[in-house]
Amino acid sequence: MVANALQPIVRMAATADRTKPIVVPDYCKGCGRCIDACEHHCIEPGRDIDPATGLVPVRIHLEHCTACGLCFDACPEPYGLRPAFFDAEGSERPRVARHDLAGTPTPEPIPDAVAALPPGQPLVIKGVYASAVGAILAGCRHFFGYPITPSTEGAELMARLLPHLDGQFVQAVSEVAAINMMYGAGAAGVRATTFTSSPGFSLMLEGLSYMVGATVPGVVVNVMRGGPGLGNIAPGQSDIKLACRGLGHGDTHAIVLAPSTPQEMLDLTMLAFDLSFKYRNPVIVLADGYVAQMTGRVTLPRTMVRPGVPAWAVAGDEAHRRNLITSIYLSETELEARNERLFAKYARITDAEPRADLFQCDDAELLIVACNTPARMAKGAVRTLRAQGVKAGLFRPLTLWPFPICALAPVLSRARRVVVVEASDGQLEDEMRLAISRADLATPSITSVNRYGGVLPSHDEIVSRVIGVARPHALGATA
Ligand code: SF4
Ligand code: SF4
Repeated sequence: MVANALQPIVRMAATADRTKPIVVPDYCKGCGRCIDACEHHCIEPGRDIDPATGLVPVRIHLEHCTACGLCFDACPEPYGLRPAFFDAEGSERPRVARHDLAGTPTPEPIPDAVAALPPGQPLVIKGVYASAVGAILAGCRHFFGYPITPSTEGAELMARLLPHLDGQFVQAVSEVAAINMMYGAGAAGVRATTFTSSPGFSLMLEGLSYMVGATVPGVVVNVMRGGPGLGNIAPGQSDIKLACRGLGHGDTHAIVLAPSTPQEMLDLTMLAFDLSFKYRNPVIVLADGYVAQMTGRVTLPRTMVRPGVPAWAVAGDEAHRRNLITSIYLSETELEARNERLFAKYARITDAEPRADLFQCDDAELLIVACNTPARMAKGAVRTLRAQGVKAGLFRPLTLWPFPICALAPVLSRARRVVVVEASDGQLEDEMRLAISRADLATPSITSVNRYGGVLPSHDEIVSRVIGVARPHALGATA
């Protein structure tokens, strides 16, 4: 008998015609609710891992069972328990194979829809607000987070808006709880986000590893601040390595987007949702405290997204019941195969998704590399250096992972010197050097301008470093 055909009968058995239960190990997740429900101590925790599911189903001893049915009522799984009288062979441990779902509808995707937005005036808002608006326009209706400066205002705006949009705002008890709520929401196929800042991001890394392992989408907006430890609430960039190389345990990767204006806070947050669902992977919007808090002009797009339901989601209905979202693979060969599928996905992302913004790079002999707010200072420095006759240009990676080496390579071949400007101890420089090395490109002369602890590199520091490192005439100055 197929599992779906049992469901109404199970309900009937659990209400009118009570009968003794049998555990269906394929569906029992070992939560123990039936143990608590049974006053006659007929059910005990299991001891053996079920090789088919990796879970530990409970064990039942029916000598004292009164067929009261309370365990059926307690079980959250439709097939965790079934009435004993359906066991035609008399076996006490029937198996219902997961693939034996003949008769259940096959999940069909409900595609996203696009709705037109009426034309309006640009907004003048701070960066975190722009990111929140971008999330809503991208179809996000679920926010899980824990307040932490300088990201909190974005969460506050979501708390105000989501209840009016049939959305859910949950202030979790911690960042650990928030990211695991993200895991659950993403697995259900809904668009969810969290806003956090560096210490909170550290706490989310384990959950992010689970999301990557289970191929669950979700968007994390991390507003970097000064560290290490609690640090301060001033802007920083010292989470680049965490976001690009350190998303918890395992060989994990997520696309990392680096905005440098309030407009990009909106645009890249919207893009993050697209990419997250396209690749079924978390995406990190890696901002800094300055761009998140600064106020700027933000033009809204002409359309917004009404998200559908992906076919793979565990959406809580009968059709999606067959879907399994998990990152546990107890068999080594299965886990290795899972990793290889993830690596193939990372390769597709590396080919298709690198993005960069180039400013006056066509003839640049001095190349400044910077992202987030330091890129704004670097852009001003490029203008100043150009006015002094230095052929300077700015290379600004929009994706820190994958690093846009294809866009960098042509300008790198013309540059005689590279200066990396960042508010960390070389974390952006390391990403660039690794990308150069893996692309088998010649490593140019690289120097850096670094500030730490919430201090950003200034325009004057960049200019004086460049002038000090290489005299204008040596860099192609015309005067
Ligand atoms: S039917 Fe009642 S007595 Fe029997 S195992 Fe379930 S809860 Fe216990
Ligand atoms: S309540 Fe259901 S899923 Fe939980 S342990 Fe009991 S039979 Fe298994």
